Amino acid sequence: MNIRQLGERGLISTIHRLQATPAMGYIGIGDDAAFLPPSEKGWLATSDMLVEGTHFRWQWMDPEQLGEKAVAVNVSDIAAMGGLPKVCLTSLGVDGEVDVQVIEGIYRGVARALDRYGAVLIGGDTVESSAGLVLDVMMLGEPSAAGPVLRRGARPGDRLVVTGRLGAAYGGLQLLERGVRWPGTSMLERSLLTAQMAPLARVEAGVALAPLVHAMTDISDGLVSELRELSQFGSVGVRITESLLPIDQATQELAAELDARVSDWAYYGGEDYELLAAIAPSRMPEARRRLEQIGLAFCEVGVITDEPGVIAVTAEGEVLLDDARAYDPFAASRIL
Ligand SMILES: [Mg+2]
Repeated sequence: MNIRQLGERGLISTIHRLQATPAMGYIGIGDDAAFLPPSEKGWLATSDMLVEGTHFRWQWMDPEQLGEKAVAVNVSDIAAMGGLPKVCLTSLGVDGEVDVQVIEGIYRGVARALDRYGAVLIGGDTVESSAGLVLDVMMLGEPSAAGPVLRRGARPGDRLVVTGRLGAAYGGLQLLERGVRWPGTSMLERSLLTAQMAPLARVEAGVALAPLVHAMTDISDGLVSELRELSQFGSVGVRITESLLPIDQATQELAAELDARVSDWAYYGGEDYELLAAIAPSRMPEARRRLEQIGLAFCEVGVITDEPGVIAVTAEGEVLLDDARAYDPFAASRIL
């Protein structure tokens, strides 16, 4: 059955049926609007949209993977503020000819990801779209007891740390563009495709680090783009050491195979969804201990300085990293 045959009411009840029930005090799907009880600490709000042809292709991922990723990238922004995701709304644009099973798949993925992060769907919208599928997620979360952690606030002398690995998601994209399909045929392919297609938002890490950091953000548009913002918003400079970038072996192997500079993948590739934080040296041991407790790698990649700009210390010397190559969603094409 396709969506036109099912109708909007049928579509909404299909979506509703797949979702968990909101907690007491919340009013979710089914009324004119959702209702949220007051939050003592206030609310964080973010939205992020996935568009067919721009952000995903159906040859690359199945509906469940799309639903999960759409939630994860939104939760990542809540995690970047040190918060906990609570509720979300989704706006879906879809062609009436699309099979209902596609929508069921997407919302099974949405439900699974929301369950993982402790959040629930409370409303949204559905519209006809003849221009391909669009899934917009709006996520609300509660800041930690320490309050929202901002991009600005880094101080000269702070250490810069990154959770997880960088460049792997871009490696996964390279594989997809070369015709490799999930789950790949080797550990290398599986690992890089996972980074690209099934990123995990670092909620636990964000909560653990929130009381310790001066500034934090998630790395969605490539390290350099985030470093630039950290530097500009905080009126400070950044000096990173290229040899310290957490680039794993799978990513290095693929880059070597494709004759690409792997550091460029980390700098400009994007979609890693790891956290980047500035931490005072005195708080580094505690930060390290907290991340170890949740089983996460913790990598010191550089330091905050008082000269504006983003500088990389490389084997060839110091290089000023400009954002001429940084990811821009409105640029004509990807730069790498
Ligand atoms: Mg972000």
